[in-house]
Amino acid sequence: MRVFIDVSGRRAFLEKRRGSIDEHFPADLTPAASALHAPTPRASSEAKCDADQQQGSGAEVKKSFVFEHNTPIIRDDRKTTMLVWEEDRKPSSSAPASGAPIHAATMTPMDAARQSVASNPASHAASADLTAPAAARRVNVADKRIINGQTDVNQLVPFKYKWAWEKYLATCANHWMPQEVNMSRDIALWKDPNGLTEDERRIIKRNLGFFVTADSLAANNIVLGTYRHITAPEARQFLLRQAFEEAIHTHAYQYIVESLGLDESEIFNAYHEVKSIRDKDEFLIPFIDAIMDPNFVTGTPETDQTLLKSLIVFACLMEGLFFYVGFTQILALGRQNKMTGAAEQYQYILRDESMHCNFGIDLINQIKLENPHLWTPEFRAEIKQLFEQAVELEYRYAEDTMPRGVLGLNAAMFKGYLRYIANRRATQIGLEALFPNEENPFPWMSEMIDLKKERNFFETRVIEYQSGGALSWD
Ligand code: FE
Repeated sequence: MRVFIDVSGRRAFLEKRRGSIDEHFPADLTPAASALHAPTPRASSEAKCDADQQQGSGAEVKKSFVFEHNTPIIRDDRKTTMLVWEEDRKPSSSAPASGAPIHAATMTPMDAARQSVASNPASHAASADLTAPAAARRVNVADKRIINGQTDVNQLVPFKYKWAWEKYLATCANHWMPQEVNMSRDIALWKDPNGLTEDERRIIKRNLGFFVTADSLAANNIVLGTYRHITAPEARQFLLRQAFEEAIHTHAYQYIVESLGLDESEIFNAYHEVKSIRDKDEFLIPFIDAIMDPNFVTGTPETDQTLLKSLIVFACLMEGLFFYVGFTQILALGRQNKMTGAAEQYQYILRDESMHCNFGIDLINQIKLENPHLWTPEFRAEIKQLFEQAVELEYRYAEDTMPRGVLGLNAAMFKGYLRYIANRRATQIGLEALFPNEENPFPWMSEMIDLKKERNFFETRVIEYQSGGALSWD
């Protein structure tokens, strides 16, 4: 079967969609809040309507590409490119034939792992009943679970976790690419011997030294760890998008390093060579390694707690705490009209990361809700200790990157900010605040998070990334 994608029509679609976003999202809503007001996913008839309007508006088909696909989701008639669900065409053949074996490729890694441990009575997980009649294999929404679910992970709908789907839609609406940000002012400033102080240069290099590898760690954690243990396809859909965003962030940091002509070996090796960065990564890596271990499977209270702990460390401490000092430093430079290109990149990254952090917290809370037996006093005490350890590590990082006051900021202010953020993350997952009554010393950071994506963004972005006929394989 062939999938036919009209590339030039995408521009018309995006412009139309932007119109609908503006219409649905009042200007005073943050992108995250706006996402909650996003229109619900449209039925195929509405998708057809979009396509019809594109055709009707005379959008010229400049280029298109075709590739093989197992499922005919898009009709290949060249003139009326539109979305068509398989069941619209063959309503009786959408389910596998009764009793037919499910190909290994459609099984989840967890199914396979469960089959391999099926003889272990300690594991309550069971493999899917492959001999059940087709109708019995239909997904019952009430059976879906974030972890240890038994429902088919290949079926996105029926939705159970709409918050995950809404966040997925919101992240897609926030799409951006690093090359769209103009770096020429940053380059001129960096090359000017009097453009920045030594302390400012140190902050930038240390900051990039942490981030150039941090988002790779994040991406590997999702792709090789978290993803295979999550059994809700709505959440998996978000994780797929998140993994790509981590790649965009790594790209953005690399792009800044390259633009400024920094010593790449110095920056990319900082996580080995700079103690304050290495200590943070050494704290994180065991929690990532634990769930990336190919022999690791959930299904017992102990292994489920290992996964939950890893999710908390990743969302609340890595993305939710370690990233925030770094973001604040570069955004503080931007507020002083320095390194404005880098600051704009960081603003988009911050917007993405605040969504990752919020998604992770929703995921953690949903797992807690479905598995209350995991949230024991001992487990909570262990998590509290990890929070305290992370805050200490970040204190050291703040001191190392800002040995003296710079940009009107100093390490003491950052420590206050860290305590404020740590309180927020702890209470978001149902723990008590670690440092009661701590106030936010950087209220302007909230404005940065509430970035309006319309601001100088769509006006400057490149919509059509492909050029020439390179993708015309017809
Ligand atoms: Fe992230």
